[in-house]
Amino acid sequence: MVPAMTVKFWGVRGSHPVSAAEVSHYGGNTPSIEVNIPGLVIVLDAGTGIIPLGQDLLQRRKGKSTAPPIVLLLSHLHHAHIQGLPFFAPAFDSSTRLYIYGPAYKDQDLEKTLEVTMSPPFFPISLDSMVARRTIENLQEGQVIDLPPSEFKPQTAAASDRPVDEDTLRIRSYRSDAHPDSVFIFRLEWRGRSVVYATDIEEMDEVDPDLVRFIADCDLLIHDTQYTEEHYHGQLPERPATAGFGHSTAEMACRVARAAGAARLALFHYEPSYSDQDVTSLEARARKCFADTFAAREGLSVVFPALGPADMAVRGAARPVLFHQPYIKRQD
Ligand SMILES: [Zn+2]
Ligand SMILES: [Zn+2]
Repeated sequence: MVPAMTVKFWGVRGSHPVSAAEVSHYGGNTPSIEVNIPGLVIVLDAGTGIIPLGQDLLQRRKGKSTAPPIVLLLSHLHHAHIQGLPFFAPAFDSSTRLYIYGPAYKDQDLEKTLEVTMSPPFFPISLDSMVARRTIENLQEGQVIDLPPSEFKPQTAAASDRPVDEDTLRIRSYRSDAHPDSVFIFRLEWRGRSVVYATDIEEMDEVDPDLVRFIADCDLLIHDTQYTEEHYHGQLPERPATAGFGHSTAEMACRVARAAGAARLALFHYEPSYSDQDVTSLEARARKCFADTFAAREGLSVVFPALGPADMAVRGAARPVLFHQPYIKRQD
């Protein structure tokens, strides 16, 4: 089986990183996900999960004359989603081709904002020290980024329904205000497969119809599931209500997955104080309202098998395979 597209979770925790035996199963790194197709690496967010991913990418290119370009998509600029960037090793390697897309803040370009986060007194090493050949661009509302396979050089457009070659990876974006300072949701499409990354979003009671259309019929929906319903509504002792914080419950994510006809749901962006046991019971509850659900964990890969032309239009023709591989290789 030739893997067509692999989604690997490197950081699945919301708000801030945690480290404790009680969270070691799902992991304590903040959001970062790798989407891999032959010759190209897409990275969704630069939480602390991007640090081990960066080390792994450098390992993979050892002894090779070229390295796949890296496209980093930033959903928004809250700390937990950018705090790993200053430690992303490939950015400090001149042989890396790095494209970064993310939101401008008011009149301030993304590049300027990243410069500020990497300057004293916040950090001693400047953005200029990242010697990778890099392009940093503001992401516009509804923007489409096409990556044709010849060089995987991004071609951006305000919006596009023009058909693309099946080997072109298309990134669609949707801006939502259901999170403080707003957030971009991404949809990646390639060779008949589609993955949606919807983190840091609060779905409220009414499902956003435009978002449902954006997600429609995807093969994998990765969705913010920070809280239990009881926590969200303030029904737990010593836990204040979290309604309005910009995050969802597992049940909200299930509702969106059902409305959009997603094939599979990945729970993501867990409340940092939740133990492994808490996340496992979140998953069990979510499966009752959306059966094809799994809780994302660090080191978990979702591998979509290659599809022949006849299968490509048939959703669910080839179910993805899940496997877990811890990324910390011990050298005894
Ligand atoms: Zn977040
Ligand atoms: Zn956020």
